[in-house]
Amino acid sequence: MIIHSEREFWQNLSVRRFRPGGERRLGLDGRLCRFAGTDAIFTAPPLLFGVTAVDDWERRLAEAGTLTPDTVDRIMQLHGDRGDKAIEAVSEKRVKEYRDFTVVVGRADEYVVEDDGCTCKDAEYNLDPDDPEQLCWHAIAVRIARAIDETDEHDMWYSDVREFL
Ligand SMILES: [Zn+2]
Repeated sequence: MIIHSEREFWQNLSVRRFRPGGERRLGLDGRLCRFAGTDAIFTAPPLLFGVTAVDDWERRLAEAGTLTPDTVDRIMQLHGDRGDKAIEAVSEKRVKEYRDFTVVVGRADEYVVEDDGCTCKDAEYNLDPDDPEQLCWHAIAVRIARAIDETDEHDMWYSDVREFL
């Protein structure tokens, strides 16, 4: 889910459970918050408003530099089978960065991924383009590969290469 405002954030965390004046780590990224009376005071910059669960696992991946059990769990929980396919593709170096496009090699075809958008049928028919957490496995694979630096770099133009496929 995406949290757009501070109010929404607190509604989601049911802040009333916390003791006034108490202090603890909470929130999507575990920032420290302090409670004074009934008000909560952030002791760190505002939380991840507008940040999606996709951005969250991507950030964790980038920090770890590799696929950890925790990030694999998060990806699988959010994306199910699509996450599984994406992880497999990354481990097989099937995310290709060309000079002009990023391409994911599937079993039957290759797909161009740009800003989480993809040319595949899954993206076209099954996913809500307005929900940034709904990604096809190609787009997930690109996010993963970039975060852990596992893209396969090609110093070529895909528009040239594609003609030979
Ligand atoms: Zn796709």
